[in-house]
Amino acid sequence: MEMRLIDTHAHVDLEHYDGDREEVVERAKNAEIGFINMGLDIDSSKKSVNLAETNEGVYAGVGFHPHEASSFGSPDPKRLRKLSRSDSVVAIGEIGLDYYRDNSPRKDQREAFRTQLDLACELGLPVSVHNRSSTEDLLRLLKERDEVPRGVSHSFFGDYELGLEFLDLGFYLGLSGPLTFGGEKELKEAVKRFPLDRLVLETDCPFLTPVPHRGERNEPSYVSHVTEEVAKIKGISEEEVSERTTENAVRLFDINGE
Ligand SMILES: [Zn+2]
Repeated sequence: MEMRLIDTHAHVDLEHYDGDREEVVERAKNAEIGFINMGLDIDSSKKSVNLAETNEGVYAGVGFHPHEASSFGSPDPKRLRKLSRSDSVVAIGEIGLDYYRDNSPRKDQREAFRTQLDLACELGLPVSVHNRSSTEDLLRLLKERDEVPRGVSHSFFGDYELGLEFLDLGFYLGLSGPLTFGGEKELKEAVKRFPLDRLVLETDCPFLTPVPHRGERNEPSYVSHVTEEVAKIKGISEEEVSERTTENAVRLFDINGE
């Protein structure tokens, strides 16, 4: 499948799509938009692999979201390792820390994060990292490692200096719907200065729906609205943003490359 754009972080396995999942996947395909479906726990990781194995242009991430960190239990990544054997798996994700909701004890979150970073290094896969109100610990856990996996700060939110911290670690920055919202001046100023060759686009659907669909359910085909916004902010064409961010995603996730 010819890919014009890649939504590097989606959750089309969720129940939000139970009524029309095929149509959602079809709409992305017709718009030449590939997507990477990220797992949130074992069940969702399995569904991601299944979705990716049965649809062209769909890839999978396997991992435990920090909200599920407690169910990760003892740091035994055996089941994730087994799932990752599928050729469709291009990432360990969604992993990270979330001190805003604190759905799992912070100690468990950190343990699960470390274990999955180790797994990513072992398997040579990039990570898609969630960070909410946990920047200090998250950066510390990455910086203290001997080996930092390739990765993306998913749905990056912050100023230029924070972006630089991730870029210095070799990470890419994932831009999503909030960039299209009215405010977010600081984020827009930062995006203007970030190098285009380190940006990837994403939806985090069904959440974070971009304007003009804000308030509705999000889906991979809406990633084009993030493209528009990045083009506007950087003062370049949408074609250039599409081409370059797609190249970045292909490079980062080693898509179609063996
Ligand atoms: Zn997500």
